Amino acid sequence: MAVDRARIEAAVAEILAAIGEDADRDGLRATPRRVADAYGEFFGGLGHDPVALLSDTVPVGERTGELVLLRNLSFRSVCEHHLLPFVGTAHLAYLPGEHVVGLGRLPAVLDTLAARPQLQERLTEEVADALQSGLAPRGVLVVLDAVHGCVSTRGPRQTASSTVTMASRGELSDPIARAEIMNLIGSAA
Ligand SMILES: [Zn+2]
Repeated sequence: MAVDRARIEAAVAEILAAIGEDADRDGLRATPRRVADAYGEFFGGLGHDPVALLSDTVPVGERTGELVLLRNLSFRSVCEHHLLPFVGTAHLAYLPGEHVVGLGRLPAVLDTLAARPQLQERLTEEVADALQSGLAPRGVLVVLDAVHGCVSTRGPRQTASSTVTMASRGELSDPIARAEIMNLIGSAA
């Protein structure tokens, strides 16, 4: 689903007027268009089904079926409370059941769910749910570690603080299994 660029541009021009700016001055003239471009990216995941990205799984077959962990994936999303970006690192793990999927599909699921107004907590759960329903694995673990624009740039301006959220399903909800993966994630730094 594409964003309505004309409405975004009109709304941004209105915001510029509301803060007392001259929307026609040189530096701002292209701003509504640039913001519409940015919002097209930020919210381009709306209307897209992340589970559909996991449709071409292959049987585990000869492979071991042991843990698959993608560490240190960069991601960005936009907090739905302030429409400010939050950016950080994701770690996605699953324990295959009967099927595995191409490794590139995991960050694609994350990007699709991140490209909409979000809460980090809900994004974490939604990624776990998408992997669970698309892969029918024995377990899923999702860890997101992000810095929020609304925390770092306004109010108390906690620039050094990041927020860590976690969601697990199935066998990877087991504390021992989870600790083992957290250990692997930690050793990436
Ligand atoms: Zn916020």
